[in-house]
Amino acid sequence: MYETLDEIKQEVEKCTKCKLCNGRKNTVFGVGNPNSKLMFIGEGPGADEDLQGEPFVGKAGKLMNQAFLGLGLKREDIYIANIVKCRPPNNRNPEKDEVLACIDYLRNQVMIIKPKIIVLLGNVALKNILGDEYGITKARGRWMEKKGIKYMPTFHPAALLRNESMKIEFWNDLKMVIEEYNKDK
Ligand code: URA
Ligand code: SF4
Repeated sequence: MYETLDEIKQEVEKCTKCKLCNGRKNTVFGVGNPNSKLMFIGEGPGADEDLQGEPFVGKAGKLMNQAFLGLGLKREDIYIANIVKCRPPNNRNPEKDEVLACIDYLRNQVMIIKPKIIVLLGNVALKNILGDEYGITKARGRWMEKKGIKYMPTFHPAALLRNESMKIEFWNDLKMVIEEYNKDK
């Protein structure tokens, strides 16, 4: 069992538990406030994240930053992580064996951070955290509670880059999140 995020991070940095370790330049552990009430979970690093070792620093991340700005959230107030910590080749979805190998790191991150709210960005995050039976189109925009944590599934920001009309729903979902977040601030 891990007691600090740093301990997990050190494990991740030398991890070779799945084949994604072969193509990575850097592991992408997660960033933000280790005591945050609010966590965002994405899918896995893209090219920019792999280069910089930080989640959501590329195009999708810029879009997230705009949303954070609009919501009055600072990146350093919240915590951002991904389902897998190493970049899948050509940005394909992580495969089952890869998620299986990696997801305990994320589970341990959540156990240490103890967020009250988790935003699940896209299908990969949704299915691997809440169950394969869910799909983002139907599940988005509604709270789901599990083991004392409130989950808000919403679209992945990369999907918004391809489909402008989803931005309104994304924004509405995040407004529900910020309302809940501000409740007992
Ligand atoms: N997409 C993700 O799911 N995560 C990142 O960190 C960047 C892009
Ligand atoms: Fe290890 Fe996760 Fe990277 Fe696979 S993706 S090598 S399990 S850190």
